[in-house]
Amino acid sequence: MSYRVTFIPGDGIGPEVAWAARRCLDATGVAIQWDERLAGEAAIKQFQTPLPEETLQSIRDTRVAIKGPVTTPIGTGFRSVNVALRKALNLYACVRPCRTYAGVRSPFQHVDLVVVRENTEDLYAGIEFPAKDAQTVKLIAQLSEWSKQPIQPDAAISIKPISTTATERIVRFAFEYALSHGRKKVTAVHKANIMKFTDGLFMETSRRVAKTYEGRMAFEDRLVDATCMQLVLKPQEFDVLVLPNLYGDILSDLCAGLIGGLGVAPGANIGDGIALFEAVHGSAPKYQGMNKVNPVAMILSGVLLLQHVGEQEAAGRLEAAVERILREGKSVTYDLKADRNDPTAVGTREMTDAIIAQLKTVKVRV
Ligand code: NAD
Repeated sequence: MSYRVTFIPGDGIGPEVAWAARRCLDATGVAIQWDERLAGEAAIKQFQTPLPEETLQSIRDTRVAIKGPVTTPIGTGFRSVNVALRKALNLYACVRPCRTYAGVRSPFQHVDLVVVRENTEDLYAGIEFPAKDAQTVKLIAQLSEWSKQPIQPDAAISIKPISTTATERIVRFAFEYALSHGRKKVTAVHKANIMKFTDGLFMETSRRVAKTYEGRMAFEDRLVDATCMQLVLKPQEFDVLVLPNLYGDILSDLCAGLIGGLGVAPGANIGDGIALFEAVHGSAPKYQGMNKVNPVAMILSGVLLLQHVGEQEAAGRLEAAVERILREGKSVTYDLKADRNDPTAVGTREMTDAIIAQLKTVKVRV
């Protein structure tokens, strides 16, 4: 059986790590027809937009995509391509598994948790009003009157929508994911003691959905600040975490830190019938074109892709090959060495070659 997959190299270090993942996926022997499309800075040159319609259409057709990171200018310039992609394709669930691998330096061992982040609303919905704009001044006057709370007239405003519909959908997704992946517990994370309506709704909805899984899956809900502290004290106590968009974004980087850094943290954005796989890390522009960065986060995103299409044996083989190379610690990039200036560190391409060579020797049972 052959699969059609949209391949988006991205920009910055994107093309280097995306190609590493593509080479590994091809080396598993799974037949993939790649449909290469542009996004980000690379797309602007050709299409005058960072997210061309033909890229979106390709993903709508193939239903599966793998994407290298894309740069988002801070404060000014175009809005995030990643946010736009998630919105346009309704990829409402961001799934980021975090597990410790032998050989990857981390103060923690035996961490194996999954962050499930709501992807479509919250403060990331992109509903923002710039400071001192005429519309913003009017909005502030109206909000001050309705809420009886003074707001500084020179404030910028971001809106935080949290709906029952999106919360129910993401919490159900987290429970179904937990059940289908042999997980033991779902933890919903919020700040309902302060944001009584938005986070309060997230908490109430989570509790209501959890009741329908009673007896099948353990559940708890926790405040986001306490969760951060508990994560760095006892990360082994967590299993599947489900969070609104902003907390989910922050905690996924925190969890990547628990397992040794962004270089080994994969991810997936999933909607109804469509999935886009990408590393948690960004485009790290300062390393662009240097054949330096760690390809593992993207390669493990490729493992998630294989699992998603049902190629469990190939997924197991590729993950086992990555595990071996990490455990040996020889053919690894600078970030995985005890000393970042270790001259024995290899480049992105060479680490990928080593993983591909391992693939030929590993066998897994599914
Ligand atoms: P970043 O993840 O790109 O890099 C932060 C640091 O992490 C790097 O300087 C590097 O030291 C380390 N790092 C990241 N990836 C690594 C790898 N594969 N191997 C080794 N070290 C690695 O974060 P940033 O600097 O905050 O963001 C850069 C750009 O990427 C921004 O424009 C941001 O908006 C964008 N971004 C894109 C995505 C995405 O496309 N999904 C995600 C996050 C950030």
